[in-house]
Amino acid sequence: MTSLTPHQKAKALKPGSRRPAKELCSECGLCDTYYIHYVKEACAFITQQIDTLEEQTHRRSRDLDNPDELYFGVHQDMMAAKKQQPIAGAQWTGIVSTIAIEMLNRGLVEGVVCVQNSKEDRFQPLPVIARTPEEILAARVNKPTLSPNLSILEQVEKSGMKRLLVIGVGCQIQALRAVEKKLGLEKLYVLGTPCVDNVSRAGLQKFLETTSRSPDTVVHYEFMQDFRIHFKHEDGSIEKVPFFGLKTNQLKDVFAPSCMSCFDYVNSLADLVVGYMGAPFGWQWIVVRNDTGKEMLDLVKDQLDTQPVMSQGNRQEAVQQGIPAYDKGVTLPMWVAKLMGVVIDKIGPKGLEYARFSIDSHFTRNYLYVKRNHGEKLEAHVPEFAKRIVGQYKLPE
Ligand code: FAD
Ligand code: SF4
Ligand code: SF4
Repeated sequence: MTSLTPHQKAKALKPGSRRPAKELCSECGLCDTYYIHYVKEACAFITQQIDTLEEQTHRRSRDLDNPDELYFGVHQDMMAAKKQQPIAGAQWTGIVSTIAIEMLNRGLVEGVVCVQNSKEDRFQPLPVIARTPEEILAARVNKPTLSPNLSILEQVEKSGMKRLLVIGVGCQIQALRAVEKKLGLEKLYVLGTPCVDNVSRAGLQKFLETTSRSPDTVVHYEFMQDFRIHFKHEDGSIEKVPFFGLKTNQLKDVFAPSCMSCFDYVNSLADLVVGYMGAPFGWQWIVVRNDTGKEMLDLVKDQLDTQPVMSQGNRQEAVQQGIPAYDKGVTLPMWVAKLMGVVIDKIGPKGLEYARFSIDSHFTRNYLYVKRNHGEKLEAHVPEFAKRIVGQYKLPE
């Protein structure tokens, strides 16, 4: 009989039981497996160690004196891209699903960790190890709720799989990188998306009900570069609500405490990151962090149109103006909000400057949140790059 490793002797927590990170838990799924054995070092909300893990993954931590690395993390290339033939029903043009399918079809990996939705509820996440292109396609589109993607890690080890692709957001990938060497894999590929303002399933319902004209028919939504939330409805119609008109007083507690304390917006530890916020409207934004990421992107390059990243405008004034609004939960009347949205859209930050706008706005808000609610954690929990970014602004006491 083979002897069990220390983690194999550990026991997963029962569903619904209190997690080691308490209210800061982002439900990444690690504690649903015997890898809970490593939770103290692995959990992004117990031990923040992005720089050490950057070094382990990319062989160096980000250069804080390089302005692009300060914001977007270690990278060797960035670009805007879109699929020549978008995947219907994907969040954007489906670059993430396409890379995953290509890796499976070419035998680079035996399985792909991704997240489908439950039969009853399109927004209820259901993490799976996909072994066919159909199963990957069934996971397309964002589930804009906390998702326990790592809950399938025990199945990975038990299946004997040696080559794996994991798709996930920053907090999941931090925990994954911390236990990577214990998974018994020959090769792990990590395809990340940026992530911000995530919510529990109940929080999502409240957000939809306070913000959309028809909450039950929303198929997906995105906080767009034109400073509006675009809700896509079942009938194909698009509803646009200006950020500045959000009922922030009612929505103050809607985002999960984990996401109000998160500083890994750009998924620093993925090999390749696919988002949208650093690209012109309609394009996706790609950050190639290391050679593994380049290998993944090269598989689909002939299916993409690409262009260099651009940057335009100046975010700083808009960020500074926005801080009290977030802080006090101010809501502007809808017509003023619409007008402001239009003005900012015409003269406001574009491309990488829009990405910096969003990073600055969220990091200042989150810094204040951690300071006020978990002051004892502030020093160790906020990474150095985030402290420098927040340090550019005047914050209320
Ligand atoms: P698709 O081909 O549609 O594939 C989407 C993939 O995402 C699927 O493989 C699925 O497994 C995975 N996925 C879906 N939901 C989750 C989840 N909850 N947790 C982990 N994995 C999931 N990009 C930005 O540039 N700025 C942002 O502010 C931003 N916020 C985001 C917030 C959330 C909660 C999420 C999940 C993503 C966010 N993104 C953001 C990424 C962006 O919305 C797209 O997911 C990305 O550009 C990929 O689009 P696609 O068409 O290539 O993906
Ligand atoms: Fe466990 Fe993940 Fe929650 Fe941390 S965030 S307590 S690792 S489930
Ligand atoms: Fe995780 Fe951060 Fe996304 Fe919240 S915002 S789900 S903590 S990566």
